[in-house]
This record gives sequence, C-alpha cells and structure tokens, in this order.
Amino acid sequence: MSSNRIPLPPPYRIKVVEPIPFLSPQQRREAITAAGYNPFNLRADQITVDLLSDSGTGASSAAQEAAAALGDESYAGARSFFRFRDAAAELTGYPYLLPVHQGRAGERVLFANLLRPGQICISNTHFDTTHANVEMAGAEARDLPCREAADLDSLEPFKGNIDLDALERTLAGPDGSRVGLVLMTITNNGLGAQPVSMANLEAVAAICRRYSTPFFLDAARFAENAWLVRQKEDGYQDLTPQQIATRAFELADGCLISLKKDGLTAIGGLIGLRDEELFGRCEANLIATEGFTTYGGLAGRDLERLAQGLREVVDPAYLSSRAEQTARFARMINEAGVDTVQPAGIHALYLNAGRLLPHLSPGEFPGHSLVCQLYLDGGIRSAELGSLYLGALDADHRVVTPAPFELVRLAIPRRVYTEEHFAYVAAVLGAIAKNPERIRGYRIASAPERLRHFKVRLEPLP
Ligand SMILES: *Cc1c(COP(=O)(O)O)cnc(C)c1O
Repeated sequence: MSSNRIPLPPPYRIKVVEPIPFLSPQQRREAITAAGYNPFNLRADQITVDLLSDSGTGASSAAQEAAAALGDESYAGARSFFRFRDAAAELTGYPYLLPVHQGRAGERVLFANLLRPGQICISNTHFDTTHANVEMAGAEARDLPCREAADLDSLEPFKGNIDLDALERTLAGPDGSRVGLVLMTITNNGLGAQPVSMANLEAVAAICRRYSTPFFLDAARFAENAWLVRQKEDGYQDLTPQQIATRAFELADGCLISLKKDGLTAIGGLIGLRDEELFGRCEANLIATEGFTTYGGLAGRDLERLAQGLREVVDPAYLSSRAEQTARFARMINEAGVDTVQPAGIHALYLNAGRLLPHLSPGEFPGHSLVCQLYLDGGIRSAELGSLYLGALDADHRVVTPAPFELVRLAIPRRVYTEEHFAYVAAVLGAIAKNPERIRGYRIASAPERLRHFKVRLEPLP
C-alpha cells in the first residue's frame, strides 16, 4: 500500500444525531462519587464521550431501519427469521443456527449442553462472561495466549493467537481427557483486541481433530479479524473480508457470536452448529429459556436489522475506514504522550496505565485511577483492564496477585463518533500525561465474588 495515498472518509454520512451532555467539573465529581467510582454505575446522561463498550452501541443504517419496518413478529416461522438465517448461513456455512438475545445467552445454552462438570475449556483468552459461563457449567476456563501477547510494545501482527505448543501439551498430557472444548476468541478482546491468524486457526483445527476435541469460535468480531488477516497475513489479500470470515468458520465445529459487535445491532447473538444431535439439545434448552427456535429472544425487527447488518459489516470500505479511524486515534494518543498496546486493533485501544502512573502500585489500581481521571477531567467513560478486573484479592479486597498489566480500554462504538470526538479524548489524555503524579490511587470498599468489575465500589486513597 503506498504511503502517500489520500485517506478516504467513512463510507457514510450522518442522518440522525443524538445530543451529548457536557457537565461541569463539579457535577462530574459528584457523579463519580455517587457512582462509588465505578463507571458502570454512571448514568449515560452524565457522560460526554462513552468509550465503555463497543457492544450494542453502534449506529444503525438507513437500510437497517427500513428493514426493521418489515419485521415479522409472528411467534413461529417469522419471515424475519428466515432472512436472518439466510444471512447467517451464507456467512458461517453452519447448517444449524439458533438466534439468542445476546452472546452470553448463547454461551449458557451451548456450555450447558457441551461441557460437563470437571471438564476444561481452553481458549486463547476467555471473554469475561464466557469465563463465568464456563465456570457456571462446572468446568474450568483455561487461557493459553501466545507468548508474543505478553510484550505490549511488540508489533507482532497476530498477538491474539493461542500458544499451539501449550495447547498440544495440554491435550497430550494428564489433563487431556478432561478438555471438553477449545474456544478461539476472534479478535482477542481480553488481550488488546489482537487478531488471530488463519494459520493459527488452521493449526488449532488440526490439533483438535487429532484429539477429537470440539473446536468452536467465539466470533464477536469476525469481520474485524478478517480485515486484519487481509491486511497482515500472506495469501489473503485477494479474498473479501466475507470470504476470509467464512473460511474461519469452516475450520471450526461451531460458533458463538455476540451480534452486538459485528452484527451492527443493539441486541442479538447466534449459536452456529454442525452437529445435529447437539443442535437438538441446544434447541430444547433455547425454547425453555430464550424463546422459540425462530426468534430466540429477539424481535422480528431485530432479526431484520441483523440480516442487513451482517452484510454491511463485511463491506471493505466500512472496515477499512473503521480500522483507519482507530489507527489515527492511537497515533493521536501516542503523540499526546500515552502508550497504547501495539499494534492498534480495531474495536478498542488499550492504554498502558501502569507505565503512565508508575507512582501507583498495582494494589492502588493505576488503571482504575486513569479511568476515574478521564471522567473527572473530560466526562469520558472507559474501562479498567488491570488488577481491579483480573487481580486476585484477599478477604479484605486487597490485591494479592496483580494482573500482568494495568490497562484501560477505550472501546470504539461503530459509526458513532467523529474525528473531533477522538481528538478531544486525546487532548484530555495529553493534559493528564503532562502531570500524572497528581493522580491518586483507590481502594475497594465492596466487591461481589464473580464479575467483580460490574458491581465493585471504590474510594480514593487519602
Ligand atoms: C461481548 C462478548 C461476549 C458476550 O456477548 P454479550 O452479547 O455481551 O452477551 C462474548 N465473547 C466476546 C469475545 C465478546 O466480545
């Protein structure tokens, strides 16, 4: 690609807008205090730029809203289901497709029917709800990320890969017979939004075949992974993103997808399967807990939006513009003096808070301190991915084993914010980076046992 190419603008223009609030510093201080210093407790109308999540936060297209008007709300056999199923079948190639209301519902339904208590689920990195649902099925969630992932500054292209040697060793070793599932997360959301290469997926498929172990994809960002493969992996430059995604699905026995990401909708999920018998069991569970086979907890109008969204998300012009938006945002932040996990992925940037705030120990939650400062200084909402989220705590909520890194995730909603919003965030970060020593640490006031980050409450250290 030539470097003097004129960058193209996004392949859409804005048709409907939503106002965003600007609070005073005093109002922000009161809001974050009342929220127990947990951004999940803030109200959306207290936030200026919301980078908490890219899940369900994207903008709908005119074509999606037009399709939604055709939504067929019949209890069974709705036209909208068949349009959704056709789009999902064309993309994934799986013969058995079950809609669910969101990704974690798919996790619950699949794991209840695929994993037995005492078994192990192996992943490049489990997403948080995936980890929780594996455990709630009585199984153990084990992450085997590749070694390159541990170097946040390395520019290796596929740091989302699984460690193939470790996978093979586990399957061949004493725990091998207990491995009930290998689940590859594409892209690797828990580890810096890093992509997984097709070569890695092919090797996992071959290993799983050899040990007769089911191999599934957790494919929330199947299109973004395909785009990064096309940019970075030899042999894929002439394939479309859809062809690359379909090839990935072909390698696996089935998939779970949270369609709140690359489905380009506010709600939705999908279980894709090849095995008829497993499908029968999942279907029975789905009917009892989510809804009938042809809607799975979704409205006909959402199935219509999804059918259209699954086609829009693989548009090369859309993916290219989104990837470049994130890359430009990363450059602005880096130039403002804050390091991000390299290389930049697509759906989020991960700030190296540990490096920015070296005066804070992991037990003082530097990532969380930066999250709070971004809100206090700019009304920006972000998420900690450090010792608050991943560290092991004692009974008094003190950190005994810190997370490997103290990161803050800035998730990027699809088709929502403009260059000016990103420049604003970078400017707020730049001001923080000029004077980081003033930032205090935090301690936990109360915390639940599972999925701590959603409900924890904190207080600033004196
Ligand atoms: C979002 C996500 C999930 C869970 O999906 P929900 O729709 O939020 O329930 C599972 N896995 C990955 C990789 C995700 O990003």
